[in-house]
Amino acid sequence: MEYSILEDVVKNIWKKEKNTCYTNSMRYSKLFAKTIKNAPKDEMAINAKLLIRAGFIDKVMAGVYTMLPLGLCVIKKIENIIREKMNAIGGQEIFMPTFQPKENWTKTGRWDSMDDLYKVEDTSHREMALGPTHEEVVVPLMQKFINSYKDFPFYVYQFQNKFRMELRSKSGILRGREFMMKDLYSFHLTEDDLDKYYEKVSDSYKKIFEKVGIGDRTYKTYASGGSFSKYSHEYQTVTPAGEDTIHICSKCGLAINEEIKNEVDACLSCKGTDFKKEKAIEVGNIFKLNTKYTDPFGFRITNEKGEHKEVLMGCYGLGLSRLMGTIVEIYHDEKGIVWPDAVAPYKVYLIAVGVKKEISEKADRFYDELEKKNIEVLYDDRDVSVGQKFADADLIGLPIRLVVSEKTGDKIEWKKRNEEKTELLDKEEVFRRLG
Ligand code: ATP
Ligand code: MG
Repeated sequence: MEYSILEDVVKNIWKKEKNTCYTNSMRYSKLFAKTIKNAPKDEMAINAKLLIRAGFIDKVMAGVYTMLPLGLCVIKKIENIIREKMNAIGGQEIFMPTFQPKENWTKTGRWDSMDDLYKVEDTSHREMALGPTHEEVVVPLMQKFINSYKDFPFYVYQFQNKFRMELRSKSGILRGREFMMKDLYSFHLTEDDLDKYYEKVSDSYKKIFEKVGIGDRTYKTYASGGSFSKYSHEYQTVTPAGEDTIHICSKCGLAINEEIKNEVDACLSCKGTDFKKEKAIEVGNIFKLNTKYTDPFGFRITNEKGEHKEVLMGCYGLGLSRLMGTIVEIYHDEKGIVWPDAVAPYKVYLIAVGVKKEISEKADRFYDELEKKNIEVLYDDRDVSVGQKFADADLIGLPIRLVVSEKTGDKIEWKKRNEEKTELLDKEEVFRRLG
């Protein structure tokens, strides 16, 4: 095989493995939903203001948003990162319904005890819940299919919209009334097995937060465990926008949620006593539920000795839309969003400066070349002022801005969104850097 053909084959494989959006490249003139001047007046949160102005989301009502193409692209990238890690620890993806039968919620007692549950009724007076979480569906599901102790353990997960009657809906997509969550559920016959899997999920969460660019400020945090286990763990990302307060141990880097901090005087992990108090957003949590939800459904299994064994359960949540909002709260400046590479909808924002036909033709050709090389590019080909193009480039916040103009001659101007410096590079160098 000729070298150039081989090279193409390799590139195509690479493209398939790359985490890209539905379109690798896009002309801004064709993109549905562009930047807008003002966010709604009642929107207080930085994440929502910026995401609305930059054309990533649209506000439908308090706590409810539409994901526009750019926003959905970020969500899909986050989703793919999470999916890869869930599959790596044996998770099998399913998709459970939003509508859930009342009787399941009565069985667990949550029809009456859960304040933020949305209840709906149809014309034949059948009552249902709009799922705020899925224990009430996943437990009977597992019970239906797992009949033997030999089947254990089992792990299933989904990406699904959740509904909660949140009273405070002032944090933009950090606290939606409808929001996107990844929820993983694990089923075990022994405590030891549950403990081991819990640690595996913990490790994969760490990798996910590192990958999306918030690893250095996301802390595994002890939180209350409810009545069935002493502690659970939250993943808390430090930012002033956070609604929670955590105390970070300066010795081992684990944290304790303020909610339980008064009950403990030393770090639960290393016994250290020096803590730093910070505001933080809970982006995910992991929870040993033990038999809390398997018991009400009578989910038991006969083991090899003929004993009737309880089924133990863990649940592991991670908010995709909250994660997207958290990233914006951390990565922005006065001009707009500054996306980390792994979740940016496109890598490059290409601008043609000037009205001359030869400039736009040159930019068109360069765009074609970027497209052919599978470089994710958003090309601002609009007939608007240069000032607006530059302002929108900053607002939208893609990692690299490339400019083609009369001034740049044969070269291309290169600028990173998170640096002030601009450089004039020849095309080959641009491709090399983007490769
Ligand atoms: P919070 O204390 O912030 O209300 P929670 O304890 O109710 O969160 P869980 O029920 O454990 O959250 O949900 C799992 C994950 O879903 C959370 O870690 C968070 O990332 C996300 N999440 C929860 N509620 C919301 C919401 N209203 N909007 C967006 N994401 C949410
Ligand atoms: Mg809540």
